[in-house]
Amino acid sequence: MPEPTTPELTRSPPGSGTGGTIAGDGWLGRAPCLIDGERIEPAGALTAAVTAVVDPYTGQTVGDVADAGPELVGHAVHAARRAAPAWAATPASERARVLERAAALLLDRGPSLARLVTREMGMPVTLAEATQGELPARVLASFAEATRRFGWVEDADGAELRHVPLGVVAAITPWNMPVYQIVAKVGAALAAGNTVVLKPSELTPFDAVVLVGLFGDAGLPPGALNLVQGGAATGACLVNRPEVAHVSFTGGVAAGKAVASAAGARLASVTLELGGKSPAVLLPDADLAHAVPAVLRSALVNSGQACNATTRLVVPAARAGEIEELLAAALAQVAPGDPRRRDVNFGPLVSGRQRARVRAFIADALACGARPVEHEDIDVPRCGFFVAPRVFTDVPEEAKVLREEVFGPVVVVQTYTDEAEALKVAGDTDYGLSAEVWSADTERAAAFGRALRVGQVKVNGVRTRERPAVPFGGFGLSGFGRELGRAGIAELTAVTAVLR
Ligand code: NAD
Repeated sequence: MPEPTTPELTRSPPGSGTGGTIAGDGWLGRAPCLIDGERIEPAGALTAAVTAVVDPYTGQTVGDVADAGPELVGHAVHAARRAAPAWAATPASERARVLERAAALLLDRGPSLARLVTREMGMPVTLAEATQGELPARVLASFAEATRRFGWVEDADGAELRHVPLGVVAAITPWNMPVYQIVAKVGAALAAGNTVVLKPSELTPFDAVVLVGLFGDAGLPPGALNLVQGGAATGACLVNRPEVAHVSFTGGVAAGKAVASAAGARLASVTLELGGKSPAVLLPDADLAHAVPAVLRSALVNSGQACNATTRLVVPAARAGEIEELLAAALAQVAPGDPRRRDVNFGPLVSGRQRARVRAFIADALACGARPVEHEDIDVPRCGFFVAPRVFTDVPEEAKVLREEVFGPVVVVQTYTDEAEALKVAGDTDYGLSAEVWSADTERAAAFGRALRVGQVKVNGVRTRERPAVPFGGFGLSGFGRELGRAGIAELTAVTAVLR
């Protein structure tokens, strides 16, 4: 991987009021870094790697990002390091108050942040309001609550245990749920008394600017949360900094392995939130009329660009015909279009690259002889990076779509004859992130879920927004470590013991 070059820096003085603001609907410009409370604009287009930020619906470039190089990354890490002792010594109750104020501001600013996310990555605006405003605000509020109740000092076998911060945490995040993913990392790290250097996805750099500014407005001291912009090269540079104690990474498996190797080489700890190939299991007694449209919505949320999308529907063979009809009816509810419109529930994919990748999975499935479930044509706009949803059944073992994460609107139906087979089919994956289980009997569904090796099982369609403090994370290729709630905070602490 090439070493990032260092762009020239232009700075605005602290307190100039430019911290975390972003212009409205026009040209967004170059995404700034925010370091030690200063806005720093990497200006060296000729020397730095520059990525265009493209509105996935219009195809227009709305701004760009220059890779922060070693000098800027070092500057951010040092700022975080300088801020670490004071933030670690800030009482938990005060840290909780800052998180609570940030939650309130996020709720206020959620609608405009949602419009920005829609421009950056094409998420339908109503979904963006729910998942990039309300949900992360709830997550922050839940971190505040968990910070107050944590039990930072405990007794164990006569020894005094202290849960102490790790120091500087690097947070590296993807583009698909950008605000939510930043909040899950930054909220937990700050709650635990760490300071942070955030590197968001180069496809969605602007919402991060607003969010980091918002934490400043909530009273977070300068240097406690710093933002560097750029792609993989900037991320690698950050992971390699010796001052970074822990790397919290969300993204694909390939990048996750590279991050874990680099961090491991210098014995820094890591949390990896990677992909998924999650099953939705409909037990024989499930209310299909309710469950089928709900699991299809979970599969197609954000046009399938969700790590926990339920892209494998595991269904009783005896009811497969009925389920196909319900799937066809549910597909008729998909409303593609301009993601700014409130009546649109299906947006474009994030990029032309992602569209090509998803199309390749569909072509491979068809070539292998997978059978598309019949339904009325879904007209997607001619502009934008759209791929119409596809549901395949009778999928041969060799089809890539059966095992690999597509990260697009492609669903497979798998059948079983009894519950033992359902368990085998649902568990037959290298991933282990999440699952949905549906049954008329909640306890029966929960018992089935307990037997799955996944981080989260959702019974009968319970949503994350209802339980923002429940830990999230995976097994196998889905990574390791947990985010959210008390477990997410504990992940970013170490225990020290004093025996006397
Ligand atoms: P990606 O792996 O390409 O990039 C993720 C982030 O890592 C970006 O900020 C990127 O710039 C950075 N990066 C890439 N290579 C790096 C390297 N070698 N060193 C340091 N940083 C590096 O993923 P993406 O395309 O942005 O996101 C899609 C992937 O994220 C999917 O596979 C999806 O399943 C996964 N994801 C997982 C979860 C989860 O919680 N499990 C949530 C959302 C997305």
